[in-house]
Amino acid sequence: MTAHLGHELTEEDFAEPIASYDEGPCPRMGERCPLCKDRLEKGVPSVWITIFNWSSDLTLYFHEACFRRSGFEENYRDKYLKNAYDIRDFIAGSHFWNPEYDRVLDHFDFDQAVELIVYPQYPKLEAWWDNEPALELAGKERNKGRSDPRAPFYLFDILYKSGYRQELLDIMEKLPPYAWISFSLHDDRRFQEEAAWLIGVPDFPGALERLRKSRMSLNDMLFVVETGKNNPQLLDILREAIDRYELDRSYSAVSSGFSGFDMVRYAQLCYFFASDPWRLPVLERLLTQFQFPVDAHGEFTYTKCFYFRAAVFYFLLNQTEGVKSWLSALEREIHYYPRGSPAGFINDTKRMAARYLKSQVT
Ligand SMILES: [Zn+2]
Repeated sequence: MTAHLGHELTEEDFAEPIASYDEGPCPRMGERCPLCKDRLEKGVPSVWITIFNWSSDLTLYFHEACFRRSGFEENYRDKYLKNAYDIRDFIAGSHFWNPEYDRVLDHFDFDQAVELIVYPQYPKLEAWWDNEPALELAGKERNKGRSDPRAPFYLFDILYKSGYRQELLDIMEKLPPYAWISFSLHDDRRFQEEAAWLIGVPDFPGALERLRKSRMSLNDMLFVVETGKNNPQLLDILREAIDRYELDRSYSAVSSGFSGFDMVRYAQLCYFFASDPWRLPVLERLLTQFQFPVDAHGEFTYTKCFYFRAAVFYFLLNQTEGVKSWLSALEREIHYYPRGSPAGFINDTKRMAARYLKSQVT
């Protein structure tokens, strides 16, 4: 797909799988509609889509009328909305660290694909603690070109978009509990409801819904924390899922065009543990030894903020005298936030803490 390079769109381009679709007043200035070639004025009725792409996000903006007249409309209506793509639409060479993931698409086998989702097959990303410089070089060396934590989620989304939704739902019950979590992180609420039923936590979909917000409120945070507090069995399953899928590392397991798993900033799953951090080793170590993991890809750089917020909430709920120093630590240590300004995230956390403490006094 090279539509962004400005060539005339062809039938082949129109048939490319759409990964995400939005419509409404054009949210950006200066985008050029690839169909009529005119620039879009901000606010005009428009459609913007992300084309499935293995390596980078590619969003195209159209006048709504142009889009409706184009081959994309048919693709959107008949394939995207109905998840009626074909596995073959997604085959495009070798994209995974482990060729098994490419092979299962080339010679499609549903059960084998599920196996690769449930039992991720690639080396784990090497990490070390931030006070262990001696291990740093060795870790960097070992990490070169390894690990592929997004592979199971890519594969899941390809199955989903190719019409296997019901099969995936049907098979959940037979899978180990940690896999229910990975399935439930998909935007489709049916997977969340199924996981909630299997785990016995009716509030789980609601908690995930809170995590989906681009900016959480104090009530959102407390809802997630309470859901964890009231359901230790959920925490144990979450811990195993975090471990198996390395959900403490990348803030979002899937980007590059896929939208199915966009809802949860994965490392935020640590919020469930704020009342019981001893069940999550990384959070426990942060609280007891003030250490956080580091890796060669910077995956932890972007998740550190969430763990620090979880630590603040632990102190809010348990030892309010520690809150102040953890808020200072947040200001001192957090310099990255995945989709926005770290200062905004820090301020939000401080405001939440102030509001919570006030509510406890009155
Ligand atoms: Zn146009």
